[in-house]
Amino acid sequence: MAVQTVASSTPGSTVDLGPATALSCRECGHRVPLGPVFACEECFGPLEIAYDFSAYDTETLRKRIEAGPANIWRYAPLLPVPADVADKPNLNPGWTKLVKADHLAAELGVTGGLYVKDDSGNPTHSFKDRVVAQALEAARAFGFTTLSCSSTGNLAGAVGAAAARAGLRSCVFIPHDLEQGKVVMAAIYGGDLVGIEGTYDDVNRFCSELIGDPAGEGWGFVNVNLRPYYAEGSKTLAYEICEQLGWRLPDQIVVPIASGSQLTKVDKGLRELIELGLVEDKPYKIFGAQAEGCSPVSTAFKAGHDVVRPQKPNTIAKSLAIGNPADGPYVLDIARRTGGAVEDVTDEQVVDAIKLLARTEGIFAETAGGVTVGVTRKLIENGLLDPTKTTVVLNTGDGLKTLDAVAGTGLTATIRPTLDSFREAGLA
Ligand SMILES: *Cc1c(COP(=O)(O)O)cnc(C)c1O
Repeated sequence: MAVQTVASSTPGSTVDLGPATALSCRECGHRVPLGPVFACEECFGPLEIAYDFSAYDTETLRKRIEAGPANIWRYAPLLPVPADVADKPNLNPGWTKLVKADHLAAELGVTGGLYVKDDSGNPTHSFKDRVVAQALEAARAFGFTTLSCSSTGNLAGAVGAAAARAGLRSCVFIPHDLEQGKVVMAAIYGGDLVGIEGTYDDVNRFCSELIGDPAGEGWGFVNVNLRPYYAEGSKTLAYEICEQLGWRLPDQIVVPIASGSQLTKVDKGLRELIELGLVEDKPYKIFGAQAEGCSPVSTAFKAGHDVVRPQKPNTIAKSLAIGNPADGPYVLDIARRTGGAVEDVTDEQVVDAIKLLARTEGIFAETAGGVTVGVTRKLIENGLLDPTKTTVVLNTGDGLKTLDAVAGTGLTATIRPTLDSFREAGLA
C-alpha cells in the first residue's frame, strides 16, 4: 500500500471537520493532520479519525442528539463533519427502522428480543449511503471535484447519487459482471460507470494505482484516499440501534463482512457511546457474517489464525465478495475480544434466509441480509449466539437489487378470470 501524496487545495491542518482533530494510525498511534491520506507514513498501518469529545456533557449531548434531524446528522457532534453539514445538499441517509422481529424470533427460537436494523430504507437502498455521506464532506473539505470508488455494487450507486445531489462529477469502478439491479442503480444518476474485467480486488488495486497517477488528480475515492472519513459513517448504525432501543446496548449484534470496515466501526460507535455515558457500560458481543463462497475472515476465525488468507470469491452475495478484506484482522480481534464469532453460510442458506425474513417480517433483503439472517440461525444452532439475549441483525440492502438470487419465486397459479377456475386452483 502506497502512502498518499495527493495534494489538497486546503492545508490539512485548517479544514473544519467538526470534532475530528487528526488522523491517527491504528497500529502505531502516529498522528498526522486531517487530509486525504489513508496509510501511516511510519508503518503503513491504516489511519483513522481521532476526535476531541472532551467538551461534551452527557445530558446536553443526549438532548442535542434527540432534537436533531431524523437522519445521521443528529450525530454530527460525533462525526468528522462540519457543524452546518445538515444545511448542505446531501442525501441525508440514516434513522432507518429498527424492526422488532417477533415472528422471525419465534421461528429462530429467540426469546430475548430480536430486532432487524433495516438499512434497505436508505436513499439508494443500502447502508452505503451512510459512509458516502461522510466521505462527501471530506471531499468538499479537501476541494475534490470528482467523487469515485471501487465498488461491489452498492457503493457505486451511493456515490453516483451523492455526487449528483452535491453537484460533483462521479466516475466509479465495479467488476463488470455485477447484478443488473446494481448496474442500473449505479448508472442512473448520470455519472460515469466503468466495468473492470476482474474481481473486486482487481478493481480496488486499479483504483489505488489511479490515485497515484495524474489521471486521478482531484479525485476523492470514498473508500481509498477518503477511507478514514468514509469508515466513520458506519458508527451511525451503532448510535441509531442504541438510541432506538431507548439508549440501551443490545447484547448481541450480527454484522455482515465485506472489507470488515462496517463491523469495526459498529464496535467503535458502541465504545464511544459507553465512554460518553450515553449508554450503560456493559458487555456486548459482535458477530461477523460471511457467505461460504467468500469467507476469508470466518475461515481464519475458526482456524484460530490472526492472519486472513485471501480467497477468490464465488458467491451470490456479491456485495460482500471481497476476497482480501482490509479490516479482516481487526474483525478477528473484535469478535474474539467481545466473545462473539465469525460464521458463514452457503448460497442456498442465503436464499432460504432471504425468504424466511420476507415471509416472517415483510422485509425483502438483498443477499447480504440473507447472509446475516442465515448466519444468525446457524449461530443459534451451534450455540454461539444466546437466544435469551437482546439481538440485533443488520439488513444492509434491498432485495430488489439482487432479484436473480430468488429467481423462480413468482406466481402461485395462473387462472382464467372465472370463479370456477379460481376454485380449481385450490386457493379458496
Ligand atoms: C458494503 C456492504 C457491506 C459491508 O461492507 P464493509 O466493507 O464490510 O464495510 C454490507 N452489506 C452491504 C449490502 C454492502 O453493500
